[in-house]
Amino acid sequence: MTQNPVNPVNPAGAAAASPLAPDWLQVPADLNALHEPLWAAGVGRNDGGELAIDGIPVSELQREYGTPLFVMSETDFRARARAFTDAFNDAFADICGGVDVYYAGKSFLCTTVVRWVEEEGLRLDTASGGELAVAARAGIPGAEVALHGNNKSGAEIHRALDMQLGRIVVDSLPELERVAAIAAGRGETARVMLRLTPGVHAHTHEFIATAHEDQKFGLSMAPDSTEQAGLSAAEEAVAAAAGYPGVELLGLHCHIGSQIFEPDGFAVAAEKLLDFLAAMQAKYSIVLPELDLGGGYGIAYTPADTPRPAAEIAQAMAAVVRTKCAELGITAPRISIEPGRAIVGSTTFTLYEVGTLKTVRVDAPAAPAGDTAEDTVGDMAGENVTLPRRYVSVDGGMSDNPRPVLYDADYSAVLASRTSAATPQLSRVVGKHCESGDIVVRDVYLPEDVAAGDLLAVPGTGAYCWALSSNYNYLARPGVVAVRDGSSRLIVRGETEQDLLNRDMGV
Ligand SMILES: *Cc1c(COP(=O)(O)O)cnc(C)c1O
Repeated sequence: MTQNPVNPVNPAGAAAASPLAPDWLQVPADLNALHEPLWAAGVGRNDGGELAIDGIPVSELQREYGTPLFVMSETDFRARARAFTDAFNDAFADICGGVDVYYAGKSFLCTTVVRWVEEEGLRLDTASGGELAVAARAGIPGAEVALHGNNKSGAEIHRALDMQLGRIVVDSLPELERVAAIAAGRGETARVMLRLTPGVHAHTHEFIATAHEDQKFGLSMAPDSTEQAGLSAAEEAVAAAAGYPGVELLGLHCHIGSQIFEPDGFAVAAEKLLDFLAAMQAKYSIVLPELDLGGGYGIAYTPADTPRPAAEIAQAMAAVVRTKCAELGITAPRISIEPGRAIVGSTTFTLYEVGTLKTVRVDAPAAPAGDTAEDTVGDMAGENVTLPRRYVSVDGGMSDNPRPVLYDADYSAVLASRTSAATPQLSRVVGKHCESGDIVVRDVYLPEDVAAGDLLAVPGTGAYCWALSSNYNYLARPGVVAVRDGSSRLIVRGETEQDLLNRDMGV
């Protein structure tokens, strides 16, 4: 059923918000409209009202590939990769001749994406032997690849050296010793960055600064973080690295968090690392030519998220680096950054088919006096009031997107297979797993007439969804389709039942 091709304003658009909804969630004026920042370029409704990408309707994608399905715009991925790189290159051109952008492969990695990354002039961050295997198969030169991780195995370090990686980001003193010993044993030199913890933790809207780090990653910059008084673990590592024959110390690295909207946290971390870099250069008569400021740039998952444009963040960070280097009287190191989510997150939506639906009645939260919802049933004086919440089950769930379960992450969803003029109803999109926490979208207004067989699309699922997917309940992990110039192709095929049974030894 398709109708209302011109997306008329929903007559129910002025419906009252449900008191069960979080404060940030507005009742959309038009349930059929797409909130642009959440969607990849090329996604829109066609004349029949159906969601389409590059003109390909979602029903056609379902027929060809099945659901659930990750639908990624290659055009949008390339555009975001370029936009990010251009913004940072422009901002840092006069400081250090530009920026090296490492795409954080852990957010979403397959050989096709590695090729896009390389073709757009980016480099690649990896964090395991498996991710290195993907990089190697894609054929990206090792010099353009970095290896992270707080517990790299001997095999992973050997592989990094086999591939002649541009940088190994060392996370601790024991690891520095291990990398140095392995490289020296091979008669080679490992190019090393040291990951420091500057004590800056950025959250979405603010950051906190602490002297001591209580987390597994990185070398502490706190002066009492080693047994030698006044010496930080970070300094001990710099001094050690400078003395190891198997190590070429390129510089320093930090990564202060993820889904960060404001530049302040990045700026404070950059200042702390530059202070430290200048002090180490002076004290040990060395040059540390590189500084990596990590990733973590936020994206919009719901209309309540308002990330800053890349150019704004890049300029704010560049201003801090420029001023600080002048103040310290040092030549600015070559800056690198490691965005993952900001490149791939918004390129993708997940397509699901709706199955069962039910409406439950929920005890109403205490409402301010005089604030009653139309749909409220019960004693208006405040006792035994219940409100409806609709559960919309889809054919995937926490196995293809564990972020709501892991991080309480919010998402959004729209009815994709058609438009609807029905009333907005507070809904919770849930998966099909044996887990009551199996939520895909905790709170969203969907049309009241959503029914079995409809398709839903959840935007913003490019990063840390497929990458974190699992086979819980023996669900096969979905495939990933890339769309470009009006045609689609699988870049990762979905699993089959045979894939799931293959590793079961049956002995
Ligand atoms: C995860 C990670 C990134 C990427 O973070 P995003 O939030 O996806 O940009 C970059 N660098 C390091 C070291 C990371 O661990």
